[in-house]
Amino acid sequence: MQFIPQILFLIALGVTGYLAGKRVFLIRKTIQLGKDEDRTDRRKERLRNMLLLALGQKKMFRKPVVGILHFMVYAGFVLINIEMLEIVLDGLLGTHRIFSRPLGSFYPFVLNFFEILAFGVLLACAVFLVRRNILKVERFQPARHREMKGWPFLDANIILTLEIVLMAAFLTMNAADYILQTRDYGHFGEVRTGAFLISGFIAPAIDGLSDQALVALERFTWWFHILGIMFFMVYLTYSKHLHIILAFPNTYFGDLDAKGRMRNMPAVSEEVKIMLGIAQAPENPGEVGRFGARDVTDLSWKSLMDAYSCTECGRCTSACPANQTGKLLSPRKIMTDTRDRLEDIQKGWLKNGYDYTDEKTLLGDYISDEEILACTSCNACVQECPVMINPLSIILELRRYRVMEESKAPQSWNMMFQNLETNMAPWKFSPDQRMEWVRD
Ligand code: SF4
Ligand code: SF4
Repeated sequence: MQFIPQILFLIALGVTGYLAGKRVFLIRKTIQLGKDEDRTDRRKERLRNMLLLALGQKKMFRKPVVGILHFMVYAGFVLINIEMLEIVLDGLLGTHRIFSRPLGSFYPFVLNFFEILAFGVLLACAVFLVRRNILKVERFQPARHREMKGWPFLDANIILTLEIVLMAAFLTMNAADYILQTRDYGHFGEVRTGAFLISGFIAPAIDGLSDQALVALERFTWWFHILGIMFFMVYLTYSKHLHIILAFPNTYFGDLDAKGRMRNMPAVSEEVKIMLGIAQAPENPGEVGRFGARDVTDLSWKSLMDAYSCTECGRCTSACPANQTGKLLSPRKIMTDTRDRLEDIQKGWLKNGYDYTDEKTLLGDYISDEEILACTSCNACVQECPVMINPLSIILELRRYRVMEESKAPQSWNMMFQNLETNMAPWKFSPDQRMEWVRD
């Protein structure tokens, strides 16, 4: 009987590890569907980006109040999880506050520090909930942005509420523990933390409870807190909050080229060089691959990692001139559509095995021609993204496919292409008329 809580804890830990591990395996496998692309050069710059943008959240501070609140949630949640180490050890070994003895007088200081962080997380999450649901910040509103309808809007609310509840459980647990210490009750009396800075305000509200009720409250909040964190670890892998982890690799492997630089397509460059006589035609030309992208398998693995790293913050969409002028395009939707496509592939695998492929394609079934043709290639979305996501690279690849594989460009574009081909300029004047504008 004595070991039942430890056994239950071990089972909960095992189930969490299994479920989270399974999801991580699937996500990794879908990212690997993407095409190879080397992003291991310029390591110092990459490391710098990761430290500044993922760890330091530099771009978030463009809106200072939101930046500070977001940093509070992030730092608070990550640092409080150090406390998890103690909770996990207590859970496995059946001890109570195992670090109190080795840390000695430093222990209460650490716990109070965690309490301040927990209060910061609680406060910031409450503000975020108000911004989304009461102040109705435009970029989060499903009525204005269709990609925010349903799950994305609910997901944000679930996670913010869960964080508030978890922090409240943590603080209540400390308050109950402190009262039991002062009553010298059982093993609670063996640890002396002194009154806590934040949960000291909760303590008077539960001070009238009996010893048994306080022990039950302390145990309930302890289990609630740890099981909530375990649930969070699994939930994270289904949610946009995966960015807490993926922001790090995503910024490390981010695009370091100047934003205006579009990558040439090697097969096309080679063809042009041959036409201009600066390269030799190969004796045995190999098969030319697909131009652009029709589905996620034609995109780079980095674009697929981008899709899983998207925080759905909508900063890209707010800055997008096409979206601002009422066009159908939303760069955030491009990212969520790409992730939805990957998730649908995963579902197909789970039902029918890893060889399964369906008839759907990213372009057509998820993203429409109208969306990709509305893009001005201005890079505002890339500039705004706090975690170095590049929606434009996906748009360009889809557009290349539409134009080069299916010859489905708008009439106005076709005229420009024809002019480029015949006049070597986008206009309809022949090259020998090029200097006529200076004649007078
Ligand atoms: S590059 Fe395209 S999608 Fe991105 S902000 Fe500009 S118009 Fe919008
Ligand atoms: S692509 Fe970047 S800016 Fe746009 S919603 Fe996702 S995380 Fe936010």
